[in-house]
Amino acid sequence: MKQTFNFHTHTSRCGHAYGWDEQYVKAAIKAGFQKLGFSDHMGYPGYSMPKDRMDGDQVFEYLESIEKLKNQYQDQIQIYKGFEIEWYDSQKDYLIDMRKACDYMILGQHMKHPYGYGYDYLCDDEDVMMYATQIEAGMASGLVSYLAHPDYFMLGRRDFNESCVEASKKICEASLRYQVPLEINLKGLTKTPGYYEDGKVSAYPYRRFWEIASSYGCEAVYGFDAHSPADLLESSRIHRADEILEGISIHHLSELTLK
Ligand SMILES: [Zn+2]
Ligand SMILES: [Zn+2]
Repeated sequence: MKQTFNFHTHTSRCGHAYGWDEQYVKAAIKAGFQKLGFSDHMGYPGYSMPKDRMDGDQVFEYLESIEKLKNQYQDQIQIYKGFEIEWYDSQKDYLIDMRKACDYMILGQHMKHPYGYGYDYLCDDEDVMMYATQIEAGMASGLVSYLAHPDYFMLGRRDFNESCVEASKKICEASLRYQVPLEINLKGLTKTPGYYEDGKVSAYPYRRFWEIASSYGCEAVYGFDAHSPADLLESSRIHRADEILEGISIHHLSELTLK
C-alpha cells in the first residue's frame, strides 16, 4: 500500500544520520510525499550522547532550521517539525514543555536510561517488560502521535518467548487504550539479518509481534526512519515489509492524526 506521508525522518544532528536538512525535503518531494515530518532523536539536557541523539542545546537550532524549510517549500510539500522521543519518567516535565515547541512527537524507545543501556545490544526478559512499561507510560502521556518500531526489542534477542508475548500484548493494549498507532518500521529490514529461532530474518518488522498486533486490531502506519535523504526514495521497502507480514491482516491508516 502506497503512503503519501512519512513522519519518521532524522537529520545529521543525531550523529548517525547524514545529509543536509534540505536534501531530505528534496528527496521527499521526488518520492511524491505530500507530508514530511522531521523527527530527529530528542536531546535531553545534561545527557550528552553524540552518536545517538542531538544535544539538549541543539534542539532550538534544529527547530529553526526545519521551520525555515517549512516556509521555503510550502508550495510543494507540507513539512512538520517533530521529535522522536524516548520516554523517561524523570524527563516528563521537559517533554511536556518541548511538545509545545514542535508540531508532533513520535515515541521510539531505544534505551532503558537517558544515559544509555541500549535494548538493541541485549534485551532479556526483565528488559523487555521494562521496555513495554516505558512505552505504555509514553503513550499514556498523550504527547506522541505514533509508536516507532514497536518490535525494536527483537534486535537484542534471538527468541520470541512468553515474556515477549506478554510485553507485546501490553504494548498493543496501550496502543488501543491511548489511540496511538504502531509503526511498521522500514529501516529494520535494511539491517543485517540475525539467526533467530525461526530462521535468518531481520529484527523488525517481526512477524510474531505483528500477529499479536493484528489480533488486537491495532492501527498501523509505515515509517521510513530515514537516516539518509535517499532512504526516502526506496519505496520498494514497503513491498518487502508487506512480504514479511504476508497473510497478517493489518489495519493500515491512510492518514495520520497528529496529537
Ligand atoms: Zn536513529
Ligand atoms: Zn528514528
